[in-house]
Amino acid sequence: MHTGTYFDIDWTRDGKFVGFAGFPYSIDRSPYYQIKVPVCRIRNGEGASIVLMAGNHGDEYEGELTLLKLIRLVEAADIKGAITILPAANLPAVMAARRCSPFDGGNMNRVFPGNPAGLPTQRIAWFIEHEVLPRHDVLLDIHSGGTSMDHLVCSLMETSREAERDAKALKLLKAMAMPYGIIADNGRDSPTSMAAALRSGCIGLSGEFGGGGTVTPRTMALTGRAVDNLLLALGITRRRYVSVEEARPTETQIVTQGPQTLFVYAEREGWFEPAVDIGDMVEEGQVAGWLHDLERPLEAPLELRFRAGGIVLTRRLHTHSQSGDTLINIAQLG
Ligand SMILES: [Zn+2]
Repeated sequence: MHTGTYFDIDWTRDGKFVGFAGFPYSIDRSPYYQIKVPVCRIRNGEGASIVLMAGNHGDEYEGELTLLKLIRLVEAADIKGAITILPAANLPAVMAARRCSPFDGGNMNRVFPGNPAGLPTQRIAWFIEHEVLPRHDVLLDIHSGGTSMDHLVCSLMETSREAERDAKALKLLKAMAMPYGIIADNGRDSPTSMAAALRSGCIGLSGEFGGGGTVTPRTMALTGRAVDNLLLALGITRRRYVSVEEARPTETQIVTQGPQTLFVYAEREGWFEPAVDIGDMVEEGQVAGWLHDLERPLEAPLELRFRAGGIVLTRRLHTHSQSGDTLINIAQLG
C-alpha cells in the first residue's frame, strides 16, 4: 500500500491499452491517494519500440497536446512494433501548470535515476528509468522553454561516446527534420531523461519545441512533424497522424551548446529589455539587452553584451529578473 507502483498494462500483449501507473502518496485530502500517471501502450507484433514522453516539466504543452492527439488517432492495427505514450509524465506538475511538482518541488529532469521509495517525482523517474525505458529501443522526451522562456525549435541528442549508438541517434535526429538540432554532452551520470535512456540501453532523443507556457500553430506543426517523422523512420507507422508532409523536407542545422560564455545572466535584480530575439545571429561584443531598474528612475540601464557569437537559442520571457536568471542563451553553429 505504501510502496511500489501499481501498473497493470502487460508489456507483451498486442493491442491498445490506456491505463495508469499509480504511485502511492498519502496526503491530507486522501490518506491512500495515488498519483495516477496516464500511460498508453500500443503494440502489434515484433518491430521497433519507442517511448513518447511529455510533461516531464508540467508547463511545456507542445508535447502534451501532440501526444494526446496521437493516443486518440493510432490503433494497434496501424503499427508494427510498439509505442508507449506518457503524455503527462510528472502528472502533479502538469496539473499545477508548473515546471516542478507541487508535492515535493521535484524537477523530474534533475532526479533520474530516481528512488523507488522516495518522494513522488523520484518514484515516477525510477519507474520510467527502470520499468519503461529498458523495454524500448528509443525515447523521445518532448520539452520546450516552459512558462519563463521562449526557445528556438530544436531537436536534441546527447553524445554517448559509442560511435554506433551516436550514428543511429544522429540519423534519427535528422529524420525528425527540425530546423535546428542540438548535440549536447552531459555524460551518462547526469540526472536527465537522456542519461536515463543511455543507462537503459535506449537511444535518447529530445527537443525544445517552443515555450512561453503556451502553444502556437507553428510549434504544434513542428512537434507533430518531429513525432510523425520519427515513427515513420523507425518503421512503426506507415502514415502521418499529427502533421502534414513538407513540400521539401527541412535539413537540420546542427548547433552546439557549450561554455558559460554562451549565456547572458542577470547579476543583479532588474527589468530586462532584450535587444535580440530567438533565431537572430549575433556577434561577440554585440548588445544583448538592457537591465533597467524601476526603483532608480534616473539611473542608466545596465548594458549587457554577448561574450561570444552564435545563434540566439533562448530568451527569458519574464521581464523582472533576479541575479542568476538566464536572460539569453546562444548556441554555436556546426
Ligand atoms: Zn522541459
